[in-house]
Amino acid sequence: MYSIQGTSPDAMMREMDELIKELYPICRSITGNGVRQTLRIIQRQIPLVIHEVASGTQVFDWTVPKEWNIRSAYIKNVRGEKIADFADSNLHILNYSIPFKGKLTLDDLKKHIFTIPDHPDWIPYRTSYYKETWGFCLPHRKLLGMQDQEYEIFIDSSLQNGHLTYGEYYLAGETADEVLLSCHICHPSLCNDNLSGIALMVSLAKHLSQTVRRYSYRLLFIPGTIGSIAWLALNESRVSTIKHGFVIAGVGDKGHFTYKKSRRGNAEIDRVFGYILRQSSDGSQTTDFIPYGYDERQFCSPGFDLPIGCVMRTPHGQYAEYHTSADNLEFISLGSLKDSFDKCLSTLTVLDNNRTYVNQNPKCEAQLGRRGLYQSIGAQKRVGEMAMLWVLNLSDGTHSLLDIAERSGLEFSVIKKTADLLLEHDLLRVSDSR
Ligand SMILES: [Zn+2]
Repeated sequence: MYSIQGTSPDAMMREMDELIKELYPICRSITGNGVRQTLRIIQRQIPLVIHEVASGTQVFDWTVPKEWNIRSAYIKNVRGEKIADFADSNLHILNYSIPFKGKLTLDDLKKHIFTIPDHPDWIPYRTSYYKETWGFCLPHRKLLGMQDQEYEIFIDSSLQNGHLTYGEYYLAGETADEVLLSCHICHPSLCNDNLSGIALMVSLAKHLSQTVRRYSYRLLFIPGTIGSIAWLALNESRVSTIKHGFVIAGVGDKGHFTYKKSRRGNAEIDRVFGYILRQSSDGSQTTDFIPYGYDERQFCSPGFDLPIGCVMRTPHGQYAEYHTSADNLEFISLGSLKDSFDKCLSTLTVLDNNRTYVNQNPKCEAQLGRRGLYQSIGAQKRVGEMAMLWVLNLSDGTHSLLDIAERSGLEFSVIKKTADLLLEHDLLRVSDSR
């Protein structure tokens, strides 16, 4: 694992914690002021560019929807008591509900109410982006207690032509080849599903901005599905520069870390994550690509087939709290977030340093003693010598440093340090032609 430069781990965890707490109350959706407010808060930490795409814009087979905003919403009983109030939890409103004002019997109202009978105290999170309707989400226990009477419904929302908003942060590196990182920013008060990913990506961005980078990095803070589709449609010409990447999803729950491979299954990013997770031997897992999940679905659609995987802890849908009010501040753990951060950063570090070299003295072994190279690696003497022999032997323009680390069983950092030293002594030259 690689240490975090600049910021101490404690400070970084505190920053992630503070950011999640600040973003938690905001009512986000795939469009609207909640997204803008979220991006402006992130902008205080990293100078991302905020883009606006007009409603009605055609993006491949989809159309950017109307912009949704909401101010208040409630259900009142005959005594004037609020049964559900948007002010108490933004999950109470079906996300993208159209404005509505009227009185309904319980039977008619029930057609617009969503609950989770198995978890009667939790509020479900439901959306209706592409079908104009309205609704409320309630704890099932609340619904059971509702009398057969007339209820007053009030939803002060708007669904009008406006924009889809997303944030983009680009960090130039030594080459124009890019690593793309992406997280979704469209969920309201849910912590693991979306806030953990946002916080992790902001921390990665701050860290990457302080390091020497071979690759350029592009970080997207986008609404799920329509955001990645819009980005790909508007940036199709630059997609060829994307060489690696991953989507960051629910990375704060207490389950084991999971890396879901890209559609290709054997891309360099898939191999590097596999290597890092095998080293950690803590129950982390890699899973094969399936065309269901987060925005990797779009990045890995056959017309793009980008080498982009997805990181998460417990896969979505495999924990009861998923898309409910129980995915709250208590559900996530700072230890899990930190572990997810470490694994992502370790992977990016290996990726950025995973170059291929050619031995300049390939006929028989170079005489290392004459060059003072024995004993010159800081690692244990034997390890240092073995590392030099492995790097020199396998550097034939076809094996990367990761190949050498895996085949030798030596740590990538030792192999990398060895290659740097051999490069200094002109025993290697960069190839990178794989
Ligand atoms: Zn979700």
